[in-house]
Amino acid sequence: MAYDVEKYRREYPILSREVYGKPLVYLDNTASTQTPVEVVRAVEDVYYRHKANVHRGVHALSQEATMLMEDSRERVRAFVNAGDIAEIIFTRGTTEAINLVASSYGQLLEPGDEVILSVMEHHANIVPWQLLRDRKGIVIKVVPMLADGSLDMDAYKALLSPRTRVVSITHVSNVLGTVNPVADIVRMAHEHGAVALIDGAQAIAHKDVDVRALDADFYVFSSHKMYGPTGIGVLYGKRELLEKMPPYQGGGEMISHVTFEHTTYAELPFKFEAGTPDYVGIAAFHKAIDYLTGIGTAPIAAHEEELLEYTTREMMKIPGMRIFGSAPGKCAIISFLIGDAHHYDTGMLLDKLGIAVRTGHHCAQPLMHALGVEGVVRASFALYNTKEECDMFLSALRRVAAMLG
Ligand code: PLP
Repeated sequence: MAYDVEKYRREYPILSREVYGKPLVYLDNTASTQTPVEVVRAVEDVYYRHKANVHRGVHALSQEATMLMEDSRERVRAFVNAGDIAEIIFTRGTTEAINLVASSYGQLLEPGDEVILSVMEHHANIVPWQLLRDRKGIVIKVVPMLADGSLDMDAYKALLSPRTRVVSITHVSNVLGTVNPVADIVRMAHEHGAVALIDGAQAIAHKDVDVRALDADFYVFSSHKMYGPTGIGVLYGKRELLEKMPPYQGGGEMISHVTFEHTTYAELPFKFEAGTPDYVGIAAFHKAIDYLTGIGTAPIAAHEEELLEYTTREMMKIPGMRIFGSAPGKCAIISFLIGDAHHYDTGMLLDKLGIAVRTGHHCAQPLMHALGVEGVVRASFALYNTKEECDMFLSALRRVAAMLG
């Protein structure tokens, strides 16, 4: 079936709005993708027809809401090919999922145990481990990258040691677009008796993810980066690990029995889901996954790759253009600077021309440091972007480059 981008665009009313009297060109998809009508309607449907707190009620609405939430859990399980719905924990996002693992699995670590991260991690995959270091005296080691933005796998191999307990690395860099060899990363971690967490925030909408084929111990991602509602994320974890881990937060839903003297905890996955979840968003997340798989991550990735190649080629013709990240097979993310122009000035001027890009350190300050910059401008593509939009972006970029000298 041909890739019908115009048809897909019609499902996103926001894409036909204007900013400053100019048609919006939305290229901030790495931060958050837009949400199609059918997913928004699914949110509306729960609010209008099924809203009642989940898991506790005998009445019809509560049972319907619970069923929608648990159907969504099963949908997520199938989507990432997990073996068991008990392995799918709903969180507020990737950040909370990593905090959950660092905090809970972290309690099983001893002073001097080592956690390996990479230089291209998002702060969400750095700071939780630093908090653990402060609490537990663990040691953090960092895998560097090569000049093209690929992970230095020789350095990774050299960092693995008998004290390595956790390897926590991103699947796709949110700045460089680098796709890391996560199956190898996981296998090598296992050879050293360590567990591997893969941050899938930037991969999940662009790659087919099979957690069992990857053999990842933990895999985390966010709904808002995959055309779904905000405020929802997923922690996939292997059952035997989740069973061993202490609860992350305490409260309703996560208990089996409570007295003032002693509390026993609920079974998985509820042990890790204290309090009322965003069951409305979770129900609509189901639709987002159906939507994504309906189009297919492979055709989406092929479409985005075309836009990436075309735009990169044309950008390189602009005098002074510096693009960060050229690893083979990179995802459709272009981080750049024009000469010495400040990233913020470039982003502001592009915004006035209707182009939404992101500027700054992209929650990856150690990576900025390694690149020798304070920040970069980032354009990133999604399933609904078009070649015409790339041309609008390129023409705006040429104007901005001329203005900034
Ligand atoms: N990890 C990566 C690679 C990301 O790109 C992001 C968000 O941009 C996150 C983690 C954090 O995701 P969230 O803010 O949805 O928790």
